[in-house]
Amino acid sequence: MSTRYLDNCDRCLTESSIPIAPTSVAPDGNGGVLATYKCPTCTAIWTCGWSAQSDDGEAA
Ligand SMILES: [Zn+2]
Repeated sequence: MSTRYLDNCDRCLTESSIPIAPTSVAPDGNGGVLATYKCPTCTAIWTCGWSAQSDDGEAA
């Protein structure tokens, strides 16, 4: 799947935390997207707005 819009949970972020992918990504109507996340560790849910990213992502 996509590796775009990865984010980290603020509640349980550690040096070894692995960025998680959003559970959903929806257009925000302004040329960007609103990504929704659910932390697999603490089940926190949050959203983050992003500028739209192309599918040609840079190698991480
Ligand atoms: Zn968490």
